[in-house]
Amino acid sequence: MYLGLHVGTATGHEAAVATVASLGCTAMQIFSGNPKTYRLEAVDAPALERFRSARTAAGIERTAIHTSYLINLASDQPKIANNSLRLLRHDLAVAAAGGIDFVNTHLGSYGTRDREQGFAAVVQLLEKALAAIASGVYLVLENSAGAGALCGGTLEELGAFVRTLNHPQLGICLDTAHSWAAGYQIDSAQAVDRFIMLVDQCIGLDRVKMFHFNDTQVPLGGNRDRHWHIGEGLIGMAGFRALARHPELQGKTAILETPGDATDDARNMQTLRLIFARARSDDAAPLPTGS
Ligand SMILES: [Zn+2]
Ligand SMILES: [Zn+2]
Repeated sequence: MYLGLHVGTATGHEAAVATVASLGCTAMQIFSGNPKTYRLEAVDAPALERFRSARTAAGIERTAIHTSYLINLASDQPKIANNSLRLLRHDLAVAAAGGIDFVNTHLGSYGTRDREQGFAAVVQLLEKALAAIASGVYLVLENSAGAGALCGGTLEELGAFVRTLNHPQLGICLDTAHSWAAGYQIDSAQAVDRFIMLVDQCIGLDRVKMFHFNDTQVPLGGNRDRHWHIGEGLIGMAGFRALARHPELQGKTAILETPGDATDDARNMQTLRLIFARARSDDAAPLPTGS
């Protein structure tokens, strides 16, 4: 898998690349601007071109933009829905200018509206976003923690978006903490096998372009979106080890969105890389004889 980290770009794109490269990442995720404002920054093509060159030089092979937290494609308020589409299109344009692979977005909340109507409205907005998508860019829908009116909390609903839109550049991102909060158990090899089989049935594994690898302390099915350090939560080392070893996930991208500062980032990335290194050496080791 391509392993990486969500990093801030306050000190510039090149500094962000240097940070993730120093931690041994081959992938990274950024915000295109301030994720808590509707104000859009102009697409700075030369800066994005420099960002692309820096990534290539540093061996960063997969890059994602996480869209603004203000995006709510499921809202029944036209103003919010339109602003959400505007933000989404902006990030797709940034991705096109910067050779960025994935634009990862939350879908939002249906609020009090009827789920079926809401689903149809989200499909319409996603169709509009996909109509102008550049080649080489994927629009990636992230699963939610599944609380109440949140959109995209179940694998079935994500699969319904994939089938209804039927667009080759539409992908899915599975956040492990959100999956767990939505009630999908992934804390052992057996549980991960079952989960991945279900993902394939509901969505199709080829559509799953990205994972967000986050541990969590929220109880299974707790519907709360709280990320925790890798191996120190309820998914634990066993869960991430099973994900690292799963043959169907090879070649996919996994991004850490764990809490804390640069020291925490370094520790989480080191833990993840260790899990993957061990998984590889275990697979290379001969099977015990006499069993
Ligand atoms: Zn997210
Ligand atoms: Zn996430």
